[in-house]
Amino acid sequence: MTARYGLIIDLDGTMYHGGKIVAHADEFVSDLRDRKIPYLFLTNNSSRTPKEVAKQLAGMGIPAEAAQVYTSAQAAASYIHKKRPWAKVYVLGEPGLHAALKEAGLQQVTDEQPDYVVQGIDFSFDYAKLERAAGYIRSGAEFILTNPDLLLPTDRGFIPGAGSLGAAIQAASGKQPVVIGKPSAIIMEDVIDRIGLPADQVWVVGDNAATDMRAGQAAGCRTALMLTGITTRDNLQETLESAGVKPDLICDDIPALAEALRSFYS
Ligand SMILES: [Mg+2]
Repeated sequence: MTARYGLIIDLDGTMYHGGKIVAHADEFVSDLRDRKIPYLFLTNNSSRTPKEVAKQLAGMGIPAEAAQVYTSAQAAASYIHKKRPWAKVYVLGEPGLHAALKEAGLQQVTDEQPDYVVQGIDFSFDYAKLERAAGYIRSGAEFILTNPDLLLPTDRGFIPGAGSLGAAIQAASGKQPVVIGKPSAIIMEDVIDRIGLPADQVWVVGDNAATDMRAGQAAGCRTALMLTGITTRDNLQETLESAGVKPDLICDDIPALAEALRSFYS
């Protein structure tokens, strides 16, 4: 039997919190695999390669191949490659972003005017990089931001995310970036393509109303908001209103999601 639906699943706050698995995520994904329901993991985080992410998931007992992981770094590389396969890029980012751009055949430069400035989370961001990035953008390079997240959740609390660094570049260059990650349609088109089903047969599962739910809703997918991460019963109404979304499902935990999908398709 062909699958009647597929899933695009967020990682942080949905499958794990940092190094800790969300309860029953392993059983849920193993069941999808056994029933041959197509699924992909979609993350705005550009710092790691799909292989590294898949290895972390597998280490937690969540079945994942590198080909089932799609990151904002890959989406940024694919976006540029489609427009100008020979482009020169100046990169501010971690190894995952450098690897994705290299894999797409794009030429990384530091001391000459690039066609694009591509910026993700960059833990060695400094004044020299800011000066260079802003200068290249003012001289005509297109500014690509992997993901708009202003804050990143970590074991030590929230830390500045790619969007916060992007705000500095935007201020210094006077130019708005093209945003690639959720809720951008750019990353959603790629990932729905990879699932290979019409958008209305694809569920976007995630804990963030402003990114996951907004992305899914705008792309015409079905949406399941998980209360396993950033959204809680306490901030739910306020979060939905400020994101302007109405998820199809709101689930307290992974077993509730499994049950809701079962009854949806029974
Ligand atoms: Mg999340």
